[in-house]
Amino acid sequence: MPSAQFAEQVRIPDDAFIAGLDRELAARDLGERLAFIAETFGNAVLTTSLGLEDQVLSWAVSEHARSIRLATLQTGRLFPETVALIATTNARFGLEIEEYLPEAADIESYKSQYGLNGFYDSVEARHACCNIRKVKPLKKALAGADAWITGLRRSQSDNRAHVPFAEWDEANGLVKLNPLADWTADAMQAAIAEHDIPVNPLHARGYPSIGCEPCTRAIRPGEPERAGRWWWENDEKRECGLHVPEASPLPNASQLPENAATKI
Ligand code: SF4
Repeated sequence: MPSAQFAEQVRIPDDAFIAGLDRELAARDLGERLAFIAETFGNAVLTTSLGLEDQVLSWAVSEHARSIRLATLQTGRLFPETVALIATTNARFGLEIEEYLPEAADIESYKSQYGLNGFYDSVEARHACCNIRKVKPLKKALAGADAWITGLRRSQSDNRAHVPFAEWDEANGLVKLNPLADWTADAMQAAIAEHDIPVNPLHARGYPSIGCEPCTRAIRPGEPERAGRWWWENDEKRECGLHVPEASPLPNASQLPENAATKI
């Protein structure tokens, strides 16, 4: 259960709320972190792309915190292997991963303006595609939620080297929690082997990080984990817009979810 000391901290300043969450999560193991999140927030959502991190988190939710919702962004451009893994994961862990799709009107509008695969032609066109197929569906997945759980890890890329356990997500106006922030790739693999967690078969074919099929390639030996994502772009900080690399400002008191503060 959340400690009395933490409860006192979160009722006072906003920065203490986030810092207190960060400390509480840092002091726990993965199962305890998820149980703490489930006890603290009334509507916590784990968004999963079916990657290794998200598979570990899905397993941990099924074991320790079944009240946490799971949601995935069905962009319409996923690998068949990824789509199949949604059903496999649901069946294996007794979960119901919610699927959020882009709006048909947005797809048509995009195709008219850029062409179906216009994302190869410019960063602007790529961001526009990620916006309609990922960012907008994410907002639907997070509607009504008071905490967003992700599989971000510090060692995934330089861009994610300073990921905290808890932060304020300005874009979506809620607390963002990264319970795997301090996990290494080796720790991930050990958990997957120990608990026989199902994973995407593409990982064994050189795809450590898997997104949409037309925007993901296998990596070469020695390349960073995310080098196969939007490989034709030069920007070293390329992301899909779901995760803002720079630290977000802390919230004002009025921005904090009321139920989160009172429940703790
Ligand atoms: S990853 Fe590629 S296909 Fe998927 S939403 Fe972004 S630009 Fe579109």
